[in-house]
Amino acid sequence: MARYRESSCKICRGEGIKLFLKGDRCYSDKCAFERRGYAPGEHGQMRARRKRSDYGLQLREKQKLKRSFGLMEKQFRNYFHKAERRKGVTGTNLLVLLERRLDNMVYRMGFAASRNEARQLVRHGHFVVNGRKVNIPSYLLSVGDRVTIREKSRNTARILDAMDTVVRRGLPTWIEVDKAGFTAEVKALPTREELTMPIDEQMVVEFYSK
Ligand code: SF4
Repeated sequence: MARYRESSCKICRGEGIKLFLKGDRCYSDKCAFERRGYAPGEHGQMRARRKRSDYGLQLREKQKLKRSFGLMEKQFRNYFHKAERRKGVTGTNLLVLLERRLDNMVYRMGFAASRNEARQLVRHGHFVVNGRKVNIPSYLLSVGDRVTIREKSRNTARILDAMDTVVRRGLPTWIEVDKAGFTAEVKALPTREELTMPIDEQMVVEFYSK
């Protein structure tokens, strides 16, 4: 399985935005972007001042979104084509499709500190969806689906830590979490207004529509 080998903080600094790839650290004063909010490398500060072409801006928005979800190009492009085939606004469809991934939902529900950690936990089989074990991070959840931490995983330190620290980032309105029952339900799919990540998805659409 291909994955990013670059340091998560370098990705944020390179994109010029906090992508929250490292869990709780991202909310602390240890965040590398807070300390050095410019691109890594010898000419990092100069790169930040460089004027970008339309293509360059579109490329950067695409990369930001793709990297936020930790996806590789081929997989991300497939989501775009799926979004394009659906009714409605392609950019919003794309964001909602990405949100529906099981690894993202596990992160949103507060059962993992980051999407990257959520992906590992899902792969290791720590969750059931509607009572059935699912270990596929890209599994798409729908309204009414319930994700539960398996009984034998309820003492897993990483999961318990994440459940304790989720208050820092807060829970989304479209998810209902029953902390005592180690379970959470998708109550609705998010609207565009509820997705607050600073991405201009229209630029992503333009990037792939050339
Ligand atoms: Fe990005 Fe988090 Fe690293 Fe900050 S700590 S630079 S938000 S990955």
